[in-house]
Amino acid sequence: MADRYQQFTSSALGRQVVKRLGLPAPTPLRRHRPGDPVVAGPVLLGGAPGSRLGDAIEAVTKDVQAQVHRTPAEGERYAALVFDATGIRSSEQLHELFEFFGPTIRQTDRCGRVIVLGTPPENIADRRESAAQRALEGFVRSAGKELKRGATAQLVYVAEGAEGALASTLRFLLSAKSAYVSAQVVRIGPAEIPDVDWEKPLQGKVALVTGASRGIGEAIAETLARDGAHVVCLDVPAQGGELAAVANRIDGSTLQLDITADDAPRRIAEHFAQRHDGLDVVVHNAGITRDKTIGRMSRQQWDAVLAVNLTSQERIDEVLLADGSPLRPGGRIIGVSSMSGIAGNVGQGNYSASKAGVIGHVQAFAPLAAERGATINAVAPGFIETRMTAAIPLFVREAGRRMNSMSQGGQPVDVAETIAWYANPASAGVNGNVVRVCGQSLLGA
Ligand code: NAD
Repeated sequence: MADRYQQFTSSALGRQVVKRLGLPAPTPLRRHRPGDPVVAGPVLLGGAPGSRLGDAIEAVTKDVQAQVHRTPAEGERYAALVFDATGIRSSEQLHELFEFFGPTIRQTDRCGRVIVLGTPPENIADRRESAAQRALEGFVRSAGKELKRGATAQLVYVAEGAEGALASTLRFLLSAKSAYVSAQVVRIGPAEIPDVDWEKPLQGKVALVTGASRGIGEAIAETLARDGAHVVCLDVPAQGGELAAVANRIDGSTLQLDITADDAPRRIAEHFAQRHDGLDVVVHNAGITRDKTIGRMSRQQWDAVLAVNLTSQERIDEVLLADGSPLRPGGRIIGVSSMSGIAGNVGQGNYSASKAGVIGHVQAFAPLAAERGATINAVAPGFIETRMTAAIPLFVREAGRRMNSMSQGGQPVDVAETIAWYANPASAGVNGNVVRVCGQSLLGA
């Protein structure tokens, strides 16, 4: 669903006007449809001498039946350029990166992918190697800003020993499922990876999605159901009608509950223990705004936002990660933060505090989740086209839509696909991450 400006720029007249005035011309992003191949064209692979991820990358490109090139062919358009930079051990060796991308980056196709892989700098004892690995981040963020026509750039830090945990992340970043994710840094740690059916990775799993009656929550419920999960759709009783419609459409079930109620964590735990014999995926999506500048905000506005967006998630997760919890081994907890929690926003002191708190919560709980064989991660959406953002005054709304490398807002499904990647059993090595779904927003970059 393109916004009106985007529709205009796709017309013959619109294209002329945009060119004359130098206005942004958002490219319609390619999004995943069931049955689509993971990569839509040839993939160019490269690597610095002494890199260690060649086999892991090759296993994925083979598995997705990608046509692989190791030397650039003149005039070819590449669906993806993938560079293994783990062999770079000093700033002098960073030229390897430049030498690979310099001649080839302009051969990236429409909605193509640039992916650089490295070693987490914080894991490296050698100071010069650590700095060189950290340097990859600046390169990738600049590449994201230079790439045009819906292409994205990402950096994946793969810890030593985590080579076998790469597949779910590489597939996600190569595919159209990551359409609105760009300039992100993902960290992968060592983990046991089960075999998965990539078409239905959540078959036999039970998922909870809060705030599932509309907007982003509805898209998350649909996407997890597409991947095979039975989804329990939770929302407040006032949303009961819309909630039932979503649950019926995806063959899921409903749980009407206010997540801020004192007994909400206990009721959730009991519901899954008794009705489903356990729980595999929890998505804390329910959220509210009560915008006012800090000096004019009421205590009620502060309290309501913190209670729904942060405290309820903390209370529920404390129960889910405690002994006797219905969360099964391999459990996945996913928080929904926001770009406001990273960059701050006028009139959103309460909301930004709550959403930064979600990031802090995920990072603080990641070690405990790992001990329990689970993971906890967050997404931070930027401007997503929903009822929430449709209510923003026109001028602010237009600024929000255009101030990112894609010059457009994202769709609820873009957030949902990122959550589905975290939820995948093969993403066991992805823990404590925060990935922005913001088209590389210029704010908080
Ligand atoms: P939305 O208002 O359309 O949906 C939120 C849902 O949460 C509603 O169905 C609501 O009834 C439910 N909810 C609210 N309080 C609840 C409670 N106490 N108990 C149970 N359910 C409750 O919002 P959306 O735009 O779909 O946003 C979903 C999430 O994404 C929110 O956490 C929001 O902060 C976040 N987010 C949205 C955007 C965006 O651009 N739309 C950007 C960044 C982050």
